[in-house]
Amino acid sequence: MQRRELFTRLCQTAAALAWQQVFASADRTPVTEAGSWAESGEVFTLGVASGEPRPTSVVLWTRLAPKPMSPDGGMPARGVPVLWEVAADARFSQVVRYGATVAEPGAAHSVHVDVAGLMPGRTYFYRFRAGGQISPVGRTRTAPDPAARNERLRLAVASCQHYEAGFYAVHREIAAADVDLVLFLGDYIYETEAMPFQKVRQHPHVFPGDESHYTLGDYRAHHASYKLDPDLRASHAAHPWLLVWDDHDVVNGYAGEYLANMSDPHAFLALRTAAYRAYYEHLPVSPSRAPVGAIMRMHDRFEWGQLAEIWTMDGRQFRDPPACSGVHAPQRGQVLWRCKAAEVPERTLLGMDQEYWLADGLASSERAWKIVAQPTQIAPGGIKSPLGSLLYADGWDAFPAARERLMSAIAQPRVPDVVCLSGDVHRHVAANLRLNPHDLSSPIVASEFVTSSVSSKGLSEFLSGLLKGGNPDLLHVRGDERGYALLDVTPQQLSCEFRSTPHPVRPDSRLRTQAKFVVDRGVPGPRKA
Ligand code: FE
Ligand code: CA
Repeated sequence: MQRRELFTRLCQTAAALAWQQVFASADRTPVTEAGSWAESGEVFTLGVASGEPRPTSVVLWTRLAPKPMSPDGGMPARGVPVLWEVAADARFSQVVRYGATVAEPGAAHSVHVDVAGLMPGRTYFYRFRAGGQISPVGRTRTAPDPAARNERLRLAVASCQHYEAGFYAVHREIAAADVDLVLFLGDYIYETEAMPFQKVRQHPHVFPGDESHYTLGDYRAHHASYKLDPDLRASHAAHPWLLVWDDHDVVNGYAGEYLANMSDPHAFLALRTAAYRAYYEHLPVSPSRAPVGAIMRMHDRFEWGQLAEIWTMDGRQFRDPPACSGVHAPQRGQVLWRCKAAEVPERTLLGMDQEYWLADGLASSERAWKIVAQPTQIAPGGIKSPLGSLLYADGWDAFPAARERLMSAIAQPRVPDVVCLSGDVHRHVAANLRLNPHDLSSPIVASEFVTSSVSSKGLSEFLSGLLKGGNPDLLHVRGDERGYALLDVTPQQLSCEFRSTPHPVRPDSRLRTQAKFVVDRGVPGPRKA
């Protein structure tokens, strides 16, 4: 038995040494297979990324694009071999996993490698080689052993990064921060142009005026242009990401198969197909998510030892069309008032299957903290007016029955220590979540933290004040600053630090702590720290 083990070890060592020869020798071999594409400049212009860490696996991503803004990325119309390796050290002296894959033109020469056989709770370094070039080094981390009594999870939570509305100081700070994971809650790209007076920089690629003319090429160029931002690339290279998507990742205000002003559902599904495809090609999501037509499974759950379970929810693909559209809500993503149709019990934001899936998961979870990551604010956020309450047509306020079902799923089997994390509304919010959201005598069953945007414009302090004034369960509301939320989770307590900087974010902006809240284990609802 011992001999056999020794033999296996020797074989592994020999194979690893041989691999290192292959990886290194590509430096010396002339780039005959590559032809001219790799000689035209840097191949890894869009950087490297990792995501979806599990106890023994993690997903690695890159895309070969020597000319990122040209339709083919500067790549030939054929598959190109890509080597990858994962090491225990940044100098790659202890390579633990390695392999080869092919970057295909049908996937914009992106690669998604699901690396298995890693050790739980470890930091790893990874890099790629293609066309005789070596990529920048990325760092990642596996989740702890599912049975581990781990003491800590540190999470950077961000969303909404309109390129034109501000620089990415948030990502600069996240890249340097000591966190285990980055959780991004949607609006990774914006297909819309910012108002001229709100622009601090220009999208390098602009979509055509009419949505029916958006193509896969448009989405690819747009995603590529975002990745050319060095702070965003650094944030990806420094930590593994978990992703939740939202409307701007496709087009503002879409819901399931519906988009206002686009009467032909086939035309919208063609658009959704292109957007989902490009989203997949540019982000570190599992290869098992590769979309089939207009369908892409994004919702999933992740465990962090015994400490936490994280659900990443899809609030767009299965959503019902907006209520009262064209009558009381002529503009997308705008205000709703006196809309009885929104109260129909069947209306759903997550889709019924996903609702049941989450309810089941919450009821059976044995982790200390149940973290529900989803795109938009759950706590009521209406503004009182002489016309009645004005509601945000794109948020949970427009799906009151679905929100009640979500709160019941938490309250009825009494699932303790649920914390919801949200984005979309471009403001930092800490809130109580009640079984009956509008009834102050109803029990608080969970806590919510909404992260402000990385760069997108939020509400003025005046409007934030109205919002807070009309909704006593909103303990904190600031829409005038940009930032992210830094979560520190321990078995006893979950703390949320709202990091922020004035709008618009400038290249040299620095962040500070705007407010800090904690949730004590066993006591639902945040309290100011
Ligand atoms: Fe947004
Ligand atoms: Ca949004």
